[in-house]
Amino acid sequence: MSIKPPALFNSLTRKVEPLSPQAPPNLQVYACGPTVYDHPHIGNFRYFVWVDILHRFLRWKGYDVELVMNLTDVDDKIIARAMETGSSLAELTGRFIDSFDRGLETLRILPAAAYPRATEHIDEMVSLIERLLDGGHAYVVDGNVFFRVESFADYGRLARLQPDEMQTTERVATDEFGKEDPRDFALWKAARANEPSWPAPFGDGRPGWHLECSAMSMQFFGETFDVHLGGADLMFPHHENEIAQSEAATGKQFVRHWMHCQHLIVDGTKMSKSLGNFRTLEQLADEGCDPVAIRYLLASVHYRRQLNLNAAALEQAHASVQRLRDTSRRLDEEITRASTPATLDGESAVANGAAAEVALQRAQEGFAAALDDDLNTAGALGHLFTFVRELNAAFDAGHVALSALEKTRSWFESIDEVLGIFAAESVSKTIEVDGATLVATGPPIDAALCDRVLERLVARRRRDFERADALRDELTAAGIEVEDTPDGGRWKRHGPTTAE
Ligand SMILES: [Zn+2]
Repeated sequence: MSIKPPALFNSLTRKVEPLSPQAPPNLQVYACGPTVYDHPHIGNFRYFVWVDILHRFLRWKGYDVELVMNLTDVDDKIIARAMETGSSLAELTGRFIDSFDRGLETLRILPAAAYPRATEHIDEMVSLIERLLDGGHAYVVDGNVFFRVESFADYGRLARLQPDEMQTTERVATDEFGKEDPRDFALWKAARANEPSWPAPFGDGRPGWHLECSAMSMQFFGETFDVHLGGADLMFPHHENEIAQSEAATGKQFVRHWMHCQHLIVDGTKMSKSLGNFRTLEQLADEGCDPVAIRYLLASVHYRRQLNLNAAALEQAHASVQRLRDTSRRLDEEITRASTPATLDGESAVANGAAAEVALQRAQEGFAAALDDDLNTAGALGHLFTFVRELNAAFDAGHVALSALEKTRSWFESIDEVLGIFAAESVSKTIEVDGATLVATGPPIDAALCDRVLERLVARRRRDFERADALRDELTAAGIEVEDTPDGGRWKRHGPTTAE
């Protein structure tokens, strides 16, 4: 079955255009990940939630999405921080990678296929630099290697900057001396005393940040790939430099579709530590924010608009999530009632059911069309809430026929594969089996039962179906239903109508 591609804004062409992966339904998505030298703040999570909504939406459409997000675990800031705190690079970054992972779980963000770390891919980076040196696109000064911007005619095409605007805004460090052109940027920084370094034919040192993403994305996906994501602030110089390095080395188009997510601001101003409006996820949770409401807020504003975090927006998000939960609970009650025909007012149920189905159909079409139109989450949620109002009106008017209720329930479940906000609390657990990461998701259950679910995934993966079936029976007896998905499984409790 072919997939109708969604139209998404491409930063490269500045146009909303149909997604055109090279080999659908396969879809390669590379997302710039965190530099792990501090706890991620809520602005970082706006970006991660956007990546997640896009990831989930593309899967929902039927694409076989391979999402890769890098972890920058070596750079100037990390080294400075490690020296300040007297910890090793691995200790420091390990702590913040844990913090990042916890945030992903709290916000119901589905795991990427891989989270490559820069320090684990130095060899690929060194080879890429060698290719650039061989092609005359790079030069060595005192053990530092710089990219020669002059040698790449297309430089500035993504950011659309004039030559005089293209001087890097990064602080000019002492190791930047000796550049041929102020626009040139470091591919490799020469080793300095007491700093981590790796061997290379052009001298020991460490990679520049821009180079990491070129080397790792091409390693996973090849020299041309489908989609590259990042925050709006990364367009220049980071992504411009990624394009220059990659295309200069390969002579091929690097990325087909570039997408960028706008910033989060707090009370109308940029979030910064010095302004005292710097917020982490933990702080918001400590202030009583429901993580699902935070996820809702972060997902609810179109990604190409700035998102203003303030008390009113948070309050509104809590109210919206509560309304969805209340509606879902009421739907369950109505399903229980409608499952017992003796108590049902037949005539009213048929009329209300028909009205609800018309409203549902409209909502389904509107929701899907909004997301197809440049991931318009605000529009999609608008259709959902219109339907929620109509559904509640149908409930108020009397009984609703079971078929309409069941269609509604399955639509709610379907759209929650994208939103991850609608369902009651759910948790995700991952387990590594023979190099693959499996994910299981469902409502909170006993840790012991959850372990059983994971054990069953492992058994299935290893094709021990006898064991898997025995575990399924055990779970069923405990009131848990399991369902398999391509990358793991889901569990749910027996509903009132499914109990035998
Ligand atoms: Zn990057």
